[in-house]
Amino acid sequence: MKLAKRVMTLTPSTTLEITAKAKALKDAGHDVIGLGAGEPDFNTPDHILNAAKDAMDKGFTKYTPSGGLPALKNEIANKLKVDNNIEYKPSEIVVCSGAKHALYLLFQVILDEGDEVIIPTPYWVSYPEQVKLADGVPVYVEGKEENNFKITAAQLKEKITAKTRAVIINSPSNPTGMVYTEQELVELGEVCKEHNVLIVSDEIYEKLLYDGNKHISIAQLSPELKDLTIIINGVSKSHSMTGWRIGYAVGNETIIKAMTNLASHSTSNPTSIAQYATIAAYAGPQDDVETMRAAFEERLNVIFEKLNNIPGFSCIKPQGAFYLFPNVSEAAKLAGLEDVDSFVKVLLDEEKVALVPGSGFGAPNYVRLSYATSLVQLENAVDRIAKYMNKVT
Ligand code: PLP
Repeated sequence: MKLAKRVMTLTPSTTLEITAKAKALKDAGHDVIGLGAGEPDFNTPDHILNAAKDAMDKGFTKYTPSGGLPALKNEIANKLKVDNNIEYKPSEIVVCSGAKHALYLLFQVILDEGDEVIIPTPYWVSYPEQVKLADGVPVYVEGKEENNFKITAAQLKEKITAKTRAVIINSPSNPTGMVYTEQELVELGEVCKEHNVLIVSDEIYEKLLYDGNKHISIAQLSPELKDLTIIINGVSKSHSMTGWRIGYAVGNETIIKAMTNLASHSTSNPTSIAQYATIAAYAGPQDDVETMRAAFEERLNVIFEKLNNIPGFSCIKPQGAFYLFPNVSEAAKLAGLEDVDSFVKVLLDEEKVALVPGSGFGAPNYVRLSYATSLVQLENAVDRIAKYMNKVT
């Protein structure tokens, strides 16, 4: 069957692929521990569930405005004021079917053929594909391990050309868990201002910070940076609402309006019930957000040392999100395997532990482990990996 050129090179999301493979093994009766998933393992808090049920009972089951319910936009504006100290008008906010959809719409409306988007590596798997789907060109900048996987202003400057339209900043980062400091953001921002480059600030892991780290949005640093930044956020990770599919983009009114128009001809609107649930998520108590964050931090602290003690594993301690991103090139070598992709395959086949290979994130010497699973499962998984390494070394 002939397909459009635009999707010919499209690869499936590595994360979803490994999760599906682990699930298939599980369904076939294997005792698989999946550390691939990028979603909190907690249920959505009760008051949010109740708001959704209430919305259904009240008949709020119809189309909504394409860019989202005014009441939800107001809650998002309020959240941005309280959490990030930035004022936005409802016309500068578009609610989408997940942050992924917000990013998709954004690249569709800001990129023309050949426009470049600077993507720091390691990157979240969907960024390059989404840029390419909008006829854009991903330009990679290496976030070096010795700089905690972060790019510097000098590196960014070096990659800017007449075609550069935007740079993506994802802090806290998926897959590394690293967080940019205020000073680093100021320096990156200076380069963007100088060259009039848009900043796509993906802040979806904002609420998951450890060791006393505080979230800083680059948009809050100055009015000029606010004007250049499109913030991407949502409730998937903060409120354990991955399946509800609510995310949003915030920033320049013209861009937001174009995104809303595009949504009106594709998805129409995010699910009405999920929008009402999100109003409750933002307007209601935030205790569950903190309880989940604290649970992730506890797991991180238990598992981090153990992981680093496995022969051939070397990992920097993450400051946010819920991923560990160890360098395992040495482990693959010790096991006599060709590369890390083969190592991941062997761990799944022999030890029934599912990790995501770093190749999908533009960092082939690494693997991503999600600690969004119980401590018992995590310890069990690390024991299995250690057992395997002890067997082969
Ligand atoms: N951005 C990053 C960095 C992510 O890791 C994810 C989800 O994995 C998303 C965006 C998309 O989140 P959502 O569930 O809101 O589409």
